[in-house]
Amino acid sequence: MSDSHDSGHGHGSGHGTTPVLTPGNILLTRVEDLLNWGRKNSTWYLLFATACCAIELMQTGGPRGDFERFGSAFRTSPRQSDLMIVAGTITYKMATRARLLYDQMADPKYVISMGSCANCGGLFQPSYSVLKGVDQVLPVDVYIPGCPPRPEALLEGLISIQKRMGEEHGWIAGGWKNRELAGSNA
Ligand code: SF4
Repeated sequence: MSDSHDSGHGHGSGHGTTPVLTPGNILLTRVEDLLNWGRKNSTWYLLFATACCAIELMQTGGPRGDFERFGSAFRTSPRQSDLMIVAGTITYKMATRARLLYDQMADPKYVISMGSCANCGGLFQPSYSVLKGVDQVLPVDVYIPGCPPRPEALLEGLISIQKRMGEEHGWIAGGWKNRELAGSNA
């Protein structure tokens, strides 16, 4: 599994401050750290899958993988989701739909490309109708190799996204920047 390059999603680096519990049971921390803690422990992902990687995604949500122990549950609306897991082959026809769903998600939002098909077209790459990587239409944060990846690999991808959420700083003052695709000059 690999993180993408920094495509503008991060807003500064560094770790959060350690909360301090005073003798009066008052917890002192930064607002941004508190919000980051909430975001990373309620990472809701869009119910979106197009091919056989979806079975592994479902398996990860089952009792053995148990996605929900990390606070992550699927939502059926993009407007309630802050993570898109692209699980399966993306055709050119589906690519426009994937982009539409991504645009309907509220910022800040993240994308995991799950499996060879989403990463680069996989074994269907020679096909005239298959997109050669979902990062041609979406800004991908984490790539997970495999055909299909194991649930453990997907869990590691989620943890990687959550780690990034916890380390994002400076965004309250600066707001969220629009992310662009790799190589875009916009
Ligand atoms: S990477 Fe393999 S398992 Fe996943 S959608 Fe493609 S062919 Fe199916």
